[in-house]
Amino acid sequence: MKLNKEKFKSDYKRKLMNTFAEEIDTASKLHKYFALGGLVRDYVTENWVNTNKYYMESGEKQVYYFSMEFLIGRLLGSNLLNLGIRELCYEGLTELGIDLNELEEVENDAGLGNGGLGRLAACFLDSMASIGVPGHGCGIRYKYGLFEQKIVDGYQVEIPDYWLRDGNVWQIKKENKAVEVRFGGNVRATYETGRLSFIHENYEPVRAVPYDTPVVGYDKNMVNTLRLWSAEPVDYEFDFSTFSRGDYLKAAAYRTSVESISQVLYPDDSNFEGRLLRLKQQYFFVSAGLQSIVRSYKKSGLPMNEFHKHTAIHINDTHPSVAVAELMRILVDIEELSWEEAWHITTNTMAYTNHTILSEALEKWPVDMFMKLLPRIYMIIEEINKRFCEELSRRYPGQNGKINSMSIINDGVIKMAYLAIVGSHSVNGVAKLHTEILKNQELNNFYQVFPEKFNNKTNGITHRRWLMKANPKLTEALNHTIGTNWIKNPNELGKLENFKTDKSLQRKIASIKKENKLQFSNMLKAKYGIDIDPNSIFDVQVKRLHAYKRQVLNILHIMYLYNKLKENPNLDIVPRTFFFGAKASPSYHLAKQTIKLINTVANKINNDQSINGKLKVIFLENYSVSLAEKVIPCADVSEQISTASKEASGTGNMKFMMNGAITVATLDGANVEMKDSVGEDNIVIFGLKANEVISYNKYGGYSAFDIYNNDMRVKRILDQLVDGSLGVSSGEFKNIHESLLMFNDEYFVLKDFDAYVKAQEKIDTLYRDPAKWNEMCIMNIAHSGIFSSDNTIREYSKDIWGTRELKSVPVID
Ligand SMILES: *Cc1c(COP(=O)(O)O)cnc(C)c1O
Repeated sequence: MKLNKEKFKSDYKRKLMNTFAEEIDTASKLHKYFALGGLVRDYVTENWVNTNKYYMESGEKQVYYFSMEFLIGRLLGSNLLNLGIRELCYEGLTELGIDLNELEEVENDAGLGNGGLGRLAACFLDSMASIGVPGHGCGIRYKYGLFEQKIVDGYQVEIPDYWLRDGNVWQIKKENKAVEVRFGGNVRATYETGRLSFIHENYEPVRAVPYDTPVVGYDKNMVNTLRLWSAEPVDYEFDFSTFSRGDYLKAAAYRTSVESISQVLYPDDSNFEGRLLRLKQQYFFVSAGLQSIVRSYKKSGLPMNEFHKHTAIHINDTHPSVAVAELMRILVDIEELSWEEAWHITTNTMAYTNHTILSEALEKWPVDMFMKLLPRIYMIIEEINKRFCEELSRRYPGQNGKINSMSIINDGVIKMAYLAIVGSHSVNGVAKLHTEILKNQELNNFYQVFPEKFNNKTNGITHRRWLMKANPKLTEALNHTIGTNWIKNPNELGKLENFKTDKSLQRKIASIKKENKLQFSNMLKAKYGIDIDPNSIFDVQVKRLHAYKRQVLNILHIMYLYNKLKENPNLDIVPRTFFFGAKASPSYHLAKQTIKLINTVANKINNDQSINGKLKVIFLENYSVSLAEKVIPCADVSEQISTASKEASGTGNMKFMMNGAITVATLDGANVEMKDSVGEDNIVIFGLKANEVISYNKYGGYSAFDIYNNDMRVKRILDQLVDGSLGVSSGEFKNIHESLLMFNDEYFVLKDFDAYVKAQEKIDTLYRDPAKWNEMCIMNIAHSGIFSSDNTIREYSKDIWGTRELKSVPVID
């Protein structure tokens, strides 16, 4: 946007005055932040209004990305960056005696997601607006985001994340765009209108109120919308006498029950909990979103039978898959289309992304719960399933076992993944390996029936947040070396390869990493009082805590290294600082025990003078987007060590690669494609392959006891878990110990241990050769461009949505 420093300064002072009646020297930091945020939002509004007008008047095809989670983080810095005014504002504010970096720290993270799935949705919004795809987000405005994690005595303690406490400068409440969502009650069939129709009666109404956040494109006049829905009680029209007989207490209970719908984000990552409230949340935002999309579609004057030509709806994992049935309800019951026509429109509108093959993550709603809460939707799913099973019977006559196994409703549960597959024209996995596993194993039955629906879209990350914003020094060095074209076309980072042995670039890359490490160490010193050696290797594993991600393998290896150092304090190893950051689901016992184990080992190692500071272990409290932006740019080593076949893609892996870390990885998820892109000499691969894990599992796994009995290193560390040598009671880590031995190591931690030790020894050797190491760092940055989510979104747009990439939004008078 066009703006000069003097205008900005005077705009800013006026904004502070108009909003808070204050001048700079008297205003609090919070007010200074809000004034800046408010001003930035003002700068955006004209383009936002124009973009909306264009969409309304042109009939341009738009995509709506439906997701239970948007893990956005902070918006001030990325909005300034995308508007191209960050530099200017930084300087202007400096002249006013204000530090922009400090103001950015005031913003609460919008932590409306658990991990990778929610962060992907946020990266996709940024990429859509930045490459010009008309696309919006649709989700829930949770009052409380993902819990804040505190570590107390080594244990995780969860604190509610009231992220809206200070208000939010980006969202605009659109009271006039509210819609009604209906739960419970009963359905009556009637011919009163001369057509079989269904009347929903005695339902409980909920008012869905949208809050809109602008999504600003990079160097573009496109401003898309993230629409998040909040649940409120209806305050008029609703006759309490039919529902609660005017009972005051019941009315109060109604209010509480309604408000609970958008109260909290469920803190489970890759784990399904069949709670009624969760199902309510899903239908709530899906119904509200679809009603508002259909309403605005009709307002634009286009005919209903062309809906799918102007609208694409994306289902992010199965959480919003009830959208298939809800769109059918709207088209059949309200728009009075025939079933066949409605089905044609629905299947051509919907597309579904599968995010996991973990069986514990698959959503299966009990039929009795579902039909009570959503009686009409249940009828529609039954009808969809009846027709689908008829199709299967024609294809597989007499094969009832097969047909039952594919039935959407079976054994008293509704399988939401099957509903999503049957009701969509596209089903995609999130990395090549993951998609192959879907096609050949997990969803092979469906692949046989609908081969044309299945496709791969490897995940990505926005390089604007994860490189340009998170690592400005590296960004400047890249601009200096290869120019700035990579910003619009991240594949051009490939040009860096020409400089991989360039001594001056190597030195520059190394010194930037060092500065980032120093800055982070100083922050940790101030916050935790911990001394960290910035010359040590920074080895980082940050992600949700889960058995399949194998934080346990990492900490067991650290225990092994510590044992070696205790035996030989002169052992020649490069000093290393191991960082962990991970939230555990509050009900996930084994994961919480792993956090305690990491902190216990950290406590022991960090306080042992005899190892001369060669090892340090730091557990970073409250891993979040804003913390990720700080820690990733200073990582030397990225730990991506999931059990092969279990991590569908991963996106943390890509963020590290783009910031020049060397990855220690299993051949899982997108790690495979990272290896293919950077070359096997520039990544350290170890461990079982996906097909090996899958074939072991076919025959009941391997024998963990064999390894325990034959590998003395393994025996020793496993014994140390339970013999009190860690300085805590011997029962403290009993479950971890059992999961590895008694329950035969479901995630192949011991099986991969030897290979992991060797991989880490290789890292140690490589790090001793700075020229080689720096070359590897450069190669990783150079080959990370294909993992920009701009590339991912281009493929979604072209292959799935049929949306266009607009160079700019035409200005509408
Ligand atoms: C990127 C990101 C994740 C996903 O990390 P994975 O290593 O892919 O699991 C989770 N949480 C946050 C805060 C992130 O930024």
